[in-house]
Amino acid sequence: MSLTKEIQRRKTFGIISHPDAGKTTLTEKLLLFGGAIKTAGAVKSNKIDTHAKSDWMEIEKQRGISVATSVMGFEYKGTKINLLDTPGHQDFAEDTYRTLTAVDSVIMVIDCVKGVEIQTEKLMEVCRMRKTPVICFINKLDREGRDPYDLLDEVEEKLNINVRPLSWPISMGKTFKGVYNLYNRSLNLFRPSQRKLSDDIMEIEDLSDAKLEDLVGEHNADQLREDVELIEGVYPDFDKEAYLNGEIAPVFFGSAVNNFGVQEMLDTFIDIAPSPKSRHAEEREVAPDENKFSGFVFKIHANMDPNHRNRIAFLRICSGRFERNKPYKSMRATKPLRFSNVTSFMAQDKEIIEEAFPGDIVGLYDTGNLKIGDSLSDGENLTFKGIPSFSPEIFKEVINKDAMKTKQLEKGLKQLMEEGVAQLFTFDIGSRKVIGTVGQLQFEVIQFRLKNEYNATVEFAPMNLYKACWISSKDKKQLDEFVRSKNRHIAYDKEGKLVFMAESRAWLQMVQDNYPEIEFHFTSEF
Ligand code: GDP
Repeated sequence: MSLTKEIQRRKTFGIISHPDAGKTTLTEKLLLFGGAIKTAGAVKSNKIDTHAKSDWMEIEKQRGISVATSVMGFEYKGTKINLLDTPGHQDFAEDTYRTLTAVDSVIMVIDCVKGVEIQTEKLMEVCRMRKTPVICFINKLDREGRDPYDLLDEVEEKLNINVRPLSWPISMGKTFKGVYNLYNRSLNLFRPSQRKLSDDIMEIEDLSDAKLEDLVGEHNADQLREDVELIEGVYPDFDKEAYLNGEIAPVFFGSAVNNFGVQEMLDTFIDIAPSPKSRHAEEREVAPDENKFSGFVFKIHANMDPNHRNRIAFLRICSGRFERNKPYKSMRATKPLRFSNVTSFMAQDKEIIEEAFPGDIVGLYDTGNLKIGDSLSDGENLTFKGIPSFSPEIFKEVINKDAMKTKQLEKGLKQLMEEGVAQLFTFDIGSRKVIGTVGQLQFEVIQFRLKNEYNATVEFAPMNLYKACWISSKDKKQLDEFVRSKNRHIAYDKEGKLVFMAESRAWLQMVQDNYPEIEFHFTSEF
């Protein structure tokens, strides 16, 4: 198959949601449709198996949180779908943000009882920043949820995106009857716990057809006709371009656990979702159908076995054909890197692959040459943009409790930071090391892994910090002057970039007002 054909038949996306909205359940149903798994329940149990292999992950398992961002590839109706799973737990938000840099579109799951929740809002902000196309799946229609119009309004308001329903629910909860597909005008009647449902979908040429009464009852038939008229009147026709530009989100209603409304969404998804597009590198725009291979690392997975310090780097392919055993240029390594052990992620089974195409994610076994954000290419220096660090929310100072193990501690910290577990800031004065995270959980993970994998013992001392702001200025002299006068609050991130450690929001505001020529950034990429 030609490179162009391979690119066109690929769709790489992520599912995001607030925990418990139904992301795992929906993932599982999509995999069932793709024939990638045979039985319900496989996705969850798969997760627990992988966790059981590594002790430090026990921490998260005990809390019942799924941490690993895994990748699942499957085929559906001639399309190669790459689904990137994201941790829903907010403490791992940074991991999710980075995963979103590797996808071309997103499906967002919303619980119809709870509506738009906080984590969804944050994730949507990241999608908006990147103009990622979003499809919305409103889930759990078998429960007494909120009014669908209210839900749509809430999505528009809280997520700051226009919506266009492409399916519409007929009643809800105990009296839930099914959904009407506005995209291809067919009716799908609900029967709980069904597995496959293609047979149950009925084409309805005309909603005034009296058959509708027989199928859903008089009251529901009238309501549906009224709703559809209203929707078609209020919402402009679905505009695929606007969706692809991230300006409008098509909305589907369904019930993931009952595998209901999922196939409608999946069929529309393969119809409208984008294939891999050009990507911005600092040097130039990189088109997927260029002959030369390029890609970037967006995630590094911990050594599952503490005795072998190898890691899996997740590489998103941006252009050309990736081949096993071919020497590639890495941004930082002086020598070309060659990968013999290349994994694809086809649902549960990891298999060794020979080649991969734009949109695909491959796992590279790495002994410490790669870090997050690194690019690999066929010779050219490329720096892919859009993998920023965000200012953390919790800061703690690292206290070394075993001076004999200082070297191990340094090494451990360096490697964990390269994996993106947290961010390390080193103060200009006294070289104090401060770790910043989005959640409390990371500190436990870091402490545990430093002990377990590097034999270093640390404690953390809380620090009263509000934000870490990356600073820059067009005026070099002013910047030097600022750094000098505020040196107690200046630190460096792992790249050596200048960071201002602000103690409170009010104080930051004051400093900003006093130094108008200094720019303060809340992400590392500006
Ligand atoms: P995640 O945290 O977003 O991955 O959510 P899960 O997929 O684990 O689902 C959370 C809970 O919601 C589980 O108990 C699911 O069985 C349940 N659930 C998922 N989809 C539905 C649905 O359509 N209807 C109902 N009633 N429950 C659902």
